[in-house]
Amino acid sequence: MTTLAIDIGGTKLAAALVDDNFTIIARRELPTPASKTPEALETALRELVAPLSGQATRFAVASTGIIQDGILTAINPSNLGGLENFPLTHYLKHLTGLPGIALNDAQAAALAEYHALATPVEHMVFLTVSTGVGGGVIAHGKLLQSPGGLAGHLGHTLADPSGPRCGCGRTGCVEAIASGRGIAAAARDELAGLDARALFAQAQQGHPQALALVERSARTLARLIADTKAAFDCQCVVMGGSVGLAAGYLDRVKAALAQEPAIYHVELLPARYRQDAGLLGAALFAKE
Ligand SMILES: [Zn+2]
Repeated sequence: MTTLAIDIGGTKLAAALVDDNFTIIARRELPTPASKTPEALETALRELVAPLSGQATRFAVASTGIIQDGILTAINPSNLGGLENFPLTHYLKHLTGLPGIALNDAQAAALAEYHALATPVEHMVFLTVSTGVGGGVIAHGKLLQSPGGLAGHLGHTLADPSGPRCGCGRTGCVEAIASGRGIAAAARDELAGLDARALFAQAQQGHPQALALVERSARTLARLIADTKAAFDCQCVVMGGSVGLAAGYLDRVKAALAQEPAIYHVELLPARYRQDAGLLGAALFAKE
C-alpha cells in the first residue's frame, strides 16, 4: 500500500508517497499560504497533492492544531486564523477520492521517533520545541489519544503562574516561556525584536542576556520533563524542533534535569528526523 502523507505546518506544506517499508519515494513542498483562509489552504493542498494522489491508495495527514474527528481546531485560534474548524479529512477525501486519517503533527512525529528508537521501550515522550512547544506520548507502545484531541499537548502545562500569558489563554504555560516565540518575547534592550535564531546566535557568542534567555527555556523544559516522568514514567524523552535541536540546547536541558531529584531523571535523546517526522508518522498511524 502506498500512502499519500501530508504535513500541514505553520510555514510549509509537505506531501510524500510513503511505501510499505516507510520509505519516502516522492516528496513535494509548498509554503503555507500567508492568508489563513479555507480557500487559500484548499488551493495550496490541491496543487500540492495533484501529482501524487493518483499513485496512492490512502492519505494520512499530520497537521498543526488539534484534530478532532478529522476537523482541525486550534488551542490558540490566532495561530490558525480563519482555519478554525476546517474539515480536513472531509476535504482531502473529496480532493483525492481516497480514504484517510488525520492527526496532530507532534503526535505523528512521536510515532515516527518511537519507531526509529535504537533501543525499543514501552513508554516514550516526544517533545518538540520550536515556534511553540508540542508533544506526543507513547504508552504501552501505542500513541496516547483522546476523543478531544488534546492528549499530549504538554506545552500547555504550567511552568510559572506569574509568567507571561500564553496564546491558549492560560498564564505561564511552558510554551509561553520556553518556545522560540517565548524566548523572543522576553528579549529586552539591544536584543528586543530579535527572533529565536538570532538570540541563539547571540548566546553562542556569549551575550549574557541571550544566554539567560536560552537557559531559562532549557530549565523550563527540564522541569516539564521531570513532570512527564512523574506522569508517564517514560523510559526516554526524545526532543525535536528547531530550538530543541539547536546547538548545545539538549545539553543545557540535561544539566538542568540533573539538578532535579534522581527519581525524575530520564534518558534524553535528540530527534532523528528534522523534516520528515510528520509525514512518516502520519503514514505509520494510517497503517496502525
Ligand atoms: Zn498555553
